[in-house]
Amino acid sequence: MISEIHYSIQESGILMKKILIANRGEIAIRIIRACQELKMKTVAVYAKEDEFSVHRFKADEAYQIGAGKKPIEAYLDIDDIIRVAKETGADAVHPGYGFLAENETFAQKCEEAGIIFIGPTKEQLAIFGDKVKAKKAAHDAGLQTIPGSDGPVYSLEEVQEFTKKHGYPIMVKAALGGGGRGMRIINDESEIKESFSRAQSEAKQSFGDEELYIEKYLKNPKHIEVQVLADQHGNVVHLFERDCSVQRRHQKVIEVAPSSLSNERRLEICEAAVSLMKSVHYQNAGTVEFLVTATDFYFIEVNPRVQVEHTITEMITGIDIVQSQILIAAGADLFNDLEIPRQDKLNFHGHAIQCRVTTEDPENNFMPDTGKIETYRSPGGFGVRLDGGNAYAGAVISPYFDSLLVKACVQARTFNGAVLKMNRVLDEFRIRGIKTNIPFMRNVINHPDFISGKAHTTFIDSTPELFH
Ligand code: ADP
Repeated sequence: MISEIHYSIQESGILMKKILIANRGEIAIRIIRACQELKMKTVAVYAKEDEFSVHRFKADEAYQIGAGKKPIEAYLDIDDIIRVAKETGADAVHPGYGFLAENETFAQKCEEAGIIFIGPTKEQLAIFGDKVKAKKAAHDAGLQTIPGSDGPVYSLEEVQEFTKKHGYPIMVKAALGGGGRGMRIINDESEIKESFSRAQSEAKQSFGDEELYIEKYLKNPKHIEVQVLADQHGNVVHLFERDCSVQRRHQKVIEVAPSSLSNERRLEICEAAVSLMKSVHYQNAGTVEFLVTATDFYFIEVNPRVQVEHTITEMITGIDIVQSQILIAAGADLFNDLEIPRQDKLNFHGHAIQCRVTTEDPENNFMPDTGKIETYRSPGGFGVRLDGGNAYAGAVISPYFDSLLVKACVQARTFNGAVLKMNRVLDEFRIRGIKTNIPFMRNVINHPDFISGKAHTTFIDSTPELFH
């Protein structure tokens, strides 16, 4: 199959032999593995503080970027990354998630340099990078969106105006927001002033832009998201949905695929996702996110990139999303080249769960812990998948980057079986020298609300017993 794919890509005139991975940690390694399986060469880039990080040693070549810059800034140094791509003769850049993954300027500069950006077009990034524009696109495609301001709001009066019509509670959100930040709930009039200005300064600080918009705050919805793959020839399929309702402060902690939705509901939501992506002629992998109540489902945003939790969709569908991204960017066709079944033949099997193991101390308000990992023994066995970054005995966890250590995924025939397996996996880890959130996740996966598939987005934050 690979030789056929190479053949047909070469037929189409696009050659992709070497890929630069503009990221670090587990996702850089995930992408390097996909390239290796496709017999493509890899170039890693790293910040000075990452000079001993595993991702640089896994690649065929590795170069430091952003000399003299702060660690995170180094991975955002567009010109330096493009310099390395040109000097090494890379044909394409994979941005992973975070950092430059949704950066239009980066996509544009790659194009100018004759390097393929593995992701959607810059026009599609422009729509989905801004949640206000994304909501409009969804609305235009016939999807239901959460009642909210039709555009950015600039003043307290506009907020009051909205609440007169729609009541409380409302949510104020950063237009360029992400990662659960720049978002605040306003329960009544007395909270408007403070919440609005806080959200504004948080948005400015985190996303460089203080544009805010507001919408109704939905009580106890589920977060359901649909994985979509779209090629450059107009073919679009969904790979079903994930339930990412288990969140702490609006950030995902544990994800499940498929969700506990009925088949009818599932199809309705997945088809809505496909119609949105078709309406913007989307290319590459993307995720359409929804909040789902007992009666309705509402579009919230599109993540135009690979997501942390793509793993569990891969487990239940057997489709390699990262390889698909690379080959789609090279011009491959979903059905003929990638041999992905047509939608009506595409199935999922069993149930998968992902736990994000982080170096955070659950007994100390999830403060990131740093230092040397003294002992590291990982689980394994049937139905287990681990995607790690610097997860080994002797690794030094620095305070500079996000605290994700390893993604522990399991798959089993039944959801119950997957829960039992995840218990075994979490018990089998031996990590000493650094605190992790494993004890907390054990509490979550054994809670009746999680086991019954009923957990809503507020489950963790409203269940104090999980923290003991
Ligand atoms: P981010 O891009 O920061 O991840 P999202 O828009 O995807 O932000 O929302 C993250 C989470 O915040 C959702 O999964 C949900 O739990 C919560 N949330 C967002 N909007 C609303 C809303 N209008 N009502 C209730 N919860 C919301």
